[in-house]
Amino acid sequence: MNRPVPSSDAAARRFRAQRRLDTAPELALRKALYARGVRYRLQQRLIPGLRRTVDLAFPKVKVAVEVRGCFWHCCPEHGTLPRANAEWWRAKLLHNVARDRETEQLLIADGWFVVTVWEHEKVEDAVDKVLLAISQRQRPTEADPSR
Ligand SMILES: [Zn+2]
Repeated sequence: MNRPVPSSDAAARRFRAQRRLDTAPELALRKALYARGVRYRLQQRLIPGLRRTVDLAFPKVKVAVEVRGCFWHCCPEHGTLPRANAEWWRAKLLHNVARDRETEQLLIADGWFVVTVWEHEKVEDAVDKVLLAISQRQRPTEADPSR
């Protein structure tokens, strides 16, 4: 699927700006977690044989964190469809959503807990979600005889 030619200079600028915005929430979350002393793995391939990575991972407790941009991943509150090249965008964005769902299902099937963080969420709220998931996973369900 090739990118359509932007319909205007403004559309081209919007496209470039969106790309940077897409990574800003992830960087903010990483920085906030790091400041709290939380150490994570980045861009890990968690599903054997699948060339997909998750943004942040905590392998010991099997918690995966996906940070999603509101535009690129069709946030239920802020997802929009550009008018120019609407068909191309519809296909592209639906593909992203389908891939997100599939990845999440594969992770859950493999015993992972998936935390989804949206671009529009406050970074403190995102940190709380991640820390809660980790603490719940750390609670031992049975004694581990290997330790
Ligand atoms: Zn949103």
